[in-house]
Amino acid sequence: MSFSTLGLNEALVAAVASSGYTTPTSVQAESIPVALTGVDMMVSAATGSGKTAAFMLPALQRIMAAPAVKSIGPRVLVLCPTRELAQQVAKAGVTYGRPLQRLAVVTVVGGMPYPAQLKLLRQPVDILVATPGRLLDYINSGRIDFSRTEMLVLDEADRMLDMGFMEDIEKIVAALPAGRQTVMFSATFGGEVGRLAASMLNKPKRIEL
Ligand code: AMP
Repeated sequence: MSFSTLGLNEALVAAVASSGYTTPTSVQAESIPVALTGVDMMVSAATGSGKTAAFMLPALQRIMAAPAVKSIGPRVLVLCPTRELAQQVAKAGVTYGRPLQRLAVVTVVGGMPYPAQLKLLRQPVDILVATPGRLLDYINSGRIDFSRTEMLVLDEADRMLDMGFMEDIEKIVAALPAGRQTVMFSATFGGEVGRLAASMLNKPKRIEL
């Protein structure tokens, strides 16, 4: 098994190789070909499984596949439970996204000064990585244009719900275009996570490892 058999373009395969990865992890091997078809997915994956590349590589391929339009809103939105995870995910986006010229990855998280984040949001954004509470503040003040958002990723959905973000996530999802692709990663899929999946995924493909 190699990254070049998963449907990724050559530039992304090369970016992955220069990160030092030779073989996809199981979550990458199972998820990437499905994610590239554009369907909704729910994936059970633990921390350390390589799940970030499993959603980030298809997200980058989506951005590369279609020319950017003039709008400044994000094309891909990734929601994470914590600031630390959001920063890690954004860093992975920049690393794997090296083949893309002028890729804009912006992070919006609690505990960071508003003016600096606002400045970043006023520029074109390709990938927005955010924690739900702070993102909702910006949405409520009309600061983000989601009209061109094609893909939503919920990373560590179970942890976001444990932290009480259910309502915030519902409000954020209500602000996104209905035709988007939604991909949910979670260690578990019972109870509240299952309900969240049922309410925001469209005929999801389940990937359990
Ligand atoms: P994640 O679960 O996405 O946080 O990834 C856990 C760690 O595995 C990170 O340090 C990644 O850089 C690394 N990683 C991700 N995919 C691979 C791979 N295919 N081969 C080797 N290391 C990887």
